[in-house]
Amino acid sequence: MPSSDESGPYFAVKPVSRPLSTEVRHGIAASPGIAVGRAFVIDRRRIKVPKRHIPAEEVASELVRLDEAVSRADLQLERLKRKLRETDEEQTGVILEAYQLILHDEHLINPTRRRIRDEKINAEWALHKTVEEIKQRFDAIDQEYFRERRSDVEFVGEQVLRNLDGSGASDAPQVPPPQGSVVVAHDLSPADTVHLHKSLVAAIVTDAGGRTSHSSILAQAFGIPAVVGLDTITEAIGSGDLLIVDGNRGEVILCPTHELVDEYRFKARSQHQRIEALLSDRDAPAETKDHARVGLLANIEMPDEVPYALDYGAEGIGLYRTEFLFLERSDLPREEEHFMHARGVVRRVAPFPATFRTFDLGVDKVAPFLHKMVGASLGIPTDKEPNPALGLRSLRLCLRETAMFKAQLRGLLRASTHGRMRIMFPMISGVQELRAAKAILEECKAEMRREGLPFAEDIPVGIMVEMPSAVMVADHLARECDFMSIGTNDLIQYALALDRLNEHVGYLYQPLHPAVLRMVKRTVEAGHAAGKRVAMCGEMASDPLYSIVLLGLELDDLSMSASALPLVKRVLRQAHAEEAKRLVQTLLELPSAEDIEAVVRDYMRHYLADLEDLRPQH
Ligand code: PEP
Ligand code: MG
Repeated sequence: MPSSDESGPYFAVKPVSRPLSTEVRHGIAASPGIAVGRAFVIDRRRIKVPKRHIPAEEVASELVRLDEAVSRADLQLERLKRKLRETDEEQTGVILEAYQLILHDEHLINPTRRRIRDEKINAEWALHKTVEEIKQRFDAIDQEYFRERRSDVEFVGEQVLRNLDGSGASDAPQVPPPQGSVVVAHDLSPADTVHLHKSLVAAIVTDAGGRTSHSSILAQAFGIPAVVGLDTITEAIGSGDLLIVDGNRGEVILCPTHELVDEYRFKARSQHQRIEALLSDRDAPAETKDHARVGLLANIEMPDEVPYALDYGAEGIGLYRTEFLFLERSDLPREEEHFMHARGVVRRVAPFPATFRTFDLGVDKVAPFLHKMVGASLGIPTDKEPNPALGLRSLRLCLRETAMFKAQLRGLLRASTHGRMRIMFPMISGVQELRAAKAILEECKAEMRREGLPFAEDIPVGIMVEMPSAVMVADHLARECDFMSIGTNDLIQYALALDRLNEHVGYLYQPLHPAVLRMVKRTVEAGHAAGKRVAMCGEMASDPLYSIVLLGLELDDLSMSASALPLVKRVLRQAHAEEAKRLVQTLLELPSAEDIEAVVRDYMRHYLADLEDLRPQH
């Protein structure tokens, strides 16, 4: 195993067998863009915290174990700091100094020692409890700067834990990746991706993951090129290796030659210029040659994305995945926080509408508070649910944990007077769930009327259609809601029985599967028969390859990652809606995804000719 000394300032946790010459690895194009940069390998293996009661005679040795682990962490940080000084990574050096201060802070060490002594528990458990307590105190602070320091404490705690259990045997701790690096990991959680965005990394490369896994969606939202599903790429890359990442083609080039590096730098510049040129249509409507109009909206995960979405010409927010805001929390967000965030978003998006999807927590969108809540509710830890994608998640969880749900709904209602708010319920399987969710919304409204709190009386309430059952009863659902939005990421997952997070079945993710097209058609027809608009907000809407098919299927609105808006708009403005409907009629007669795709690719060839290297290649 290479030590940190061999592989530069950052460490690789696995033995690395680098290729001897240039090698291209193919994965899934998860987020477009090209980057050239040095690898930064991250080990995201979760640390287990063993919990053990100890006899009184073990207290002294447990205290010694803690002291040794702390000293070792200190030494590791010191060594790394020295290394960084040699390589001029000043900024990271300053962060490490802050970590050393936390490591020696009496608020971390003293309570941990006290717990070992008084509660008679092992050092890992005692430290874990202290870190959790400190994090909760940070959470209660209003200023964001201080709230964010909780992750620094967590980092330091993890470092000591690794030393305690021996898995931190590597002599270098993990530090935030330097700006401009290419992060290489087995897998990343959505929360990791948010951190990487803040660290201004150049690209992301992972062994695991699919095109619609939430870390891929976030990478796209933040404009970070990403290639996922590369299987064993972490075994071939060491920190510091130079890499080329092509997020459009889903390729990673190892050991690139100088010529290749120059070629890709040139490509990256030219892509950037072409996207800028496409933005000249920013304020033009997505109107076809025969004057059919499609609403183009953006999907967002964080309030900070709003200006970016509007700059790319979004006519509103079609999907705000509110749960991302709270993923790193260990306690439940309060009504006031929902209100403040929502008010900020509706104000910034006005006069356009902002569609807030209520909590869609679960599977990979798991917050620490969720673990506690579901664990208590089910009597088992969340990660022990046998089929989390089919488990107690999303709206089901909200209908069970009504206090959490009501805090969000009341916050949204209070914000509704500050702009154009729309509320959307995820994971609706049928009318009963829709009615239950609406009843809770009405309960919140009634409470607020009694309390004299103002809200917009006419907030449109919509649903996501992302389960085959919802498609089959779309006519009933359409009569009881104000709008519908098709979530193809989950609809494809549930209809084709493929786990959207599992790279091994990624090849089955076929938006053009005849079953998917028929389900979209059926939903649109049901919505229109009831006089309701039908949107699509799954990733299928982001790819210009599908834009004319979706036009022909008569979707009213398409909501997507902001960066895809100029490409989709370009295609739609050149298209003819009547011709698109005829194309769809032909497609619906075809028996397989391959047959349909062949026709679509052929049909789209001239539309995509000048966009080909800007869109993800599948
Ligand atoms: C979907 O399922 O298509 C969707 C948009 O929701 P998410 O990706 O957040 O599950
Ligand atoms: Mg979904």
